[in-house]
Amino acid sequence: MTEVIRLEGVSKRYGGGGIAAIQEISLVVGKGEIVALLGPSGCGKTTTLRLIAGFEVPDGGSIEIGGRIVANERIFVPAERRGVGMVFQDYALFPHLTARENVAFGLHNWDAERSGKRIEEALDLVGLSELEGRYSYELSGGQQQRVALARALAPSPQVVLLDEPFSNLDADMRAQMRQDVHRILRQAGTTAIFVTHDQEEALMIADRVGVLNQGRLEQIDQPDVIYHTPATRFVARFVGSADFIPGLVQGEGIVTELGTFPNQQGLPSGQAVEVMIRPDDIELVADLAGEATVVTRHFRGSDNLYCVQLPSGRTVHSSQGSTRIVESGARIAVKTDPTHVVCFYEDDTTR
Ligand code: ATP
Repeated sequence: MTEVIRLEGVSKRYGGGGIAAIQEISLVVGKGEIVALLGPSGCGKTTTLRLIAGFEVPDGGSIEIGGRIVANERIFVPAERRGVGMVFQDYALFPHLTARENVAFGLHNWDAERSGKRIEEALDLVGLSELEGRYSYELSGGQQQRVALARALAPSPQVVLLDEPFSNLDADMRAQMRQDVHRILRQAGTTAIFVTHDQEEALMIADRVGVLNQGRLEQIDQPDVIYHTPATRFVARFVGSADFIPGLVQGEGIVTELGTFPNQQGLPSGQAVEVMIRPDDIELVADLAGEATVVTRHFRGSDNLYCVQLPSGRTVHSSQGSTRIVESGARIAVKTDPTHVVCFYEDDTTR
């Protein structure tokens, strides 16, 4: 893998010694990769992006782009010399310029012929050649975003950074633009990092997802690995939904009130753990003598999400097909068959 971006131990505090916005972040992004930085509000996503772009100075660590150090304790390369394209949340188009003029903005040093050709290519890539003469107020949100993307891609940057690129769009437009942006980035072969608080978006578009919590990168991996084998309880809860039930490791198995699971992680016998259970791991079986009780049902269109109380009083969630209706209060048996048994040590709350 050819590296395009490398962050090593990057930290940032705002306002001289205040709360750390990000702490000791290390990550590597390969050429052509699309990486999502995912996390709740205030976890440091935008700060990480701004540090890579060169809009903020790190307090510690180093940042490399294309094998060149752009920030460490001695070096700071300004944003305009980092070879980075940026798509802002509000697109930040120039209202007094047309779509074409906006795209041309980053090419003012290019000779006219080369720049003209590149503008055509960039507008064509985002499917806006027909609308090149329009001002931004004459364009829809999705079209404005395409212009912003074309403007960022036009100078052929080493990397494009996108800050919550879909958050200003309606739900249906957002779904369409996710697909379009993904296709455009792939077609251009561009390395990209985008930040989002929307897990579905991150899982759908990214080759790898980095999950941030309180300024720390808790895990970075392929979407299915993040979902199936989360490294921390936070990642388990933030990416998908998860319940945790107590268990005790006994040799080859982990004994819980939902049955005995295989000890896939090879944990030591006698260890008290919490086993992660996803709603899609739990099957509800009609059984009038069942020991579990249905507490609530939430219809979600494509499925029903049940909350089920176990004999211990603990509750877990179960996702069932959209036509599978079980009334609240019904007695039921619970069957589990998780493909990945993920456990956290009961006495270790750092994970
Ligand atoms: P959101 O999804 O809400 O945009 P985020 O994950 O992008 O959040 P950041 O904007 O990176 O988070 O902010 C991380 C932390 O740094 C937050 O606690 C925020 O209040 C703080 N912060 C961000 N920018 C500044 C600033 N210019 N001055 C002081 N504190 C800041």
